Amino acid sequence: MVNIAQKQIWFVTGSQHLYGEEVLQQVADNSKNIVNGLNESSLLPIKIVYQETVKTSDEIAELFQEANSNKNCIGIVAWMHTFSPAKMWIRGLNILNKPLCHLHTQFNAEIPWQTMNMDFMNLNQSAHGDREFGFIMTRMRKKRKVIVGHWQSDRVQKKLGIWSRVVLGWDELQHLKVARIGDNMREVAVTEGDKVGAQMRFGMSVNGYDSSDVVKHVNAVKEEDVTKLLAEYESSYNLTNSLKEGGNQRGSLVDAAKIEIGLRAFLDEGGFKAFTDTFENLGELKQLPGIAVQRLMANGYGFGAEGDWKTAALLRAIKVMAHGMEGGTSFMEDYTYHFTPQKSYVLGSHMLEICPTIAEGKPTCDIHPLGIGGKEDPVRLVFNSPEGAALNASLIDLGNRFRLIVNEVEAVKPGGELPNLPVARVLWDPKPDLDIAATSWILSGGAHHTVYSQAITTEFLEDFADIAGIELLVIDEKTNVRDFKDRINANEAYYHLFQHGM
Ligand code: MN
Repeated sequence: MVNIAQKQIWFVTGSQHLYGEEVLQQVADNSKNIVNGLNESSLLPIKIVYQETVKTSDEIAELFQEANSNKNCIGIVAWMHTFSPAKMWIRGLNILNKPLCHLHTQFNAEIPWQTMNMDFMNLNQSAHGDREFGFIMTRMRKKRKVIVGHWQSDRVQKKLGIWSRVVLGWDELQHLKVARIGDNMREVAVTEGDKVGAQMRFGMSVNGYDSSDVVKHVNAVKEEDVTKLLAEYESSYNLTNSLKEGGNQRGSLVDAAKIEIGLRAFLDEGGFKAFTDTFENLGELKQLPGIAVQRLMANGYGFGAEGDWKTAALLRAIKVMAHGMEGGTSFMEDYTYHFTPQKSYVLGSHMLEICPTIAEGKPTCDIHPLGIGGKEDPVRLVFNSPEGAALNASLIDLGNRFRLIVNEVEAVKPGGELPNLPVARVLWDPKPDLDIAATSWILSGGAHHTVYSQAITTEFLEDFADIAGIELLVIDEKTNVRDFKDRINANEAYYHLFQHGM
């Protein structure tokens, strides 16, 4: 999915020459100890790389220039062990183009009450040194993550781990190529947007292809690869009778396998890690790709249906952030409501394309008519999703800016078996309740398509929005509609004042 072992986060300690060599040696030793400690933590998935203490404007600018051009460096953690006058940081911060996390920590956790003298005080000054550093970043309007606490605590390491994963996702977006197979579903608004603006803001390039580009690969599929993939379907899923060998729709499963192999070859040849399709532009493809898209998502590809390139890119970024974590992440759509006098729920699903990483148990491999698009019946994986905490995230283009909307939800057990519903689905209880959640979502312009994730939390997307410099609206346990409206209005003014060039 992603080569995490090569990636590095650089640990930068700030100081100054005022204190003399002895203190600076101690600063360096302490910083190395912290880096070693962080690298031993299981909460940190990315290697932290120690850098020499920076003490002058030149050293800071040179280091940040190196960080900018180093392919493996995906972010900077900065910490002021002592005071480090912050005008020295202006030149470096002006050129830094990698995400920055300000770790506001201290080498020792507790004050040594019996032995503390003025030397100790002068060595351990982050309490005020980091405030000077914070001022200059605020003065420069620089977005960054601030983590406060002792570096050995689980809480701090967990937060640093989350930020590390987010910068990994951010790094992925800088190289991401999204293939749009066919254009948008005709007349749909929310899946449109400014692809040039998106590339300037997030890094990913989004370009159009035709279904014939995929068909070329489908036609070149080798029989032995089809046989192998059919065997994999048979061992991984419960095949419905008509799809089993000798079944009257076995030919559709063979077609579906060919589409998967061809689509995969198209994506891999072009270096695409995310893609969209649309049922209105299938050309010679016999079925809308169902099981193919589902299994590609499970392998880490981003996907958006009906030309939804923003959701495709966001899904890929979140899959990279969640690499190796428990819980799945899928393309999703708010499909149908379950209103009851006591409580109301959302049934999330799509026509076909739900990722089996969120499946509970072994999926069923089934075939049914689609009802739209006029193609042959598509093969799909059908399953339920487990109960538990999850979130929905939607990235929209407001014309002058991008907005990320997040709703925290609790997945619950469906009220019945749904024996006649031939698509994967998940029932959730949106926070704080459906009334407030859907009112806020609709007022914010959130799409019907989302990324649904059991793996990441809102904090990931908060860090992501700060790195990208985009607006974030969160709908959670504390949301109330009146305050939410005020937030939307305030943001309208804020982004009008501060966001240019989009
Ligand atoms: Mn849709």
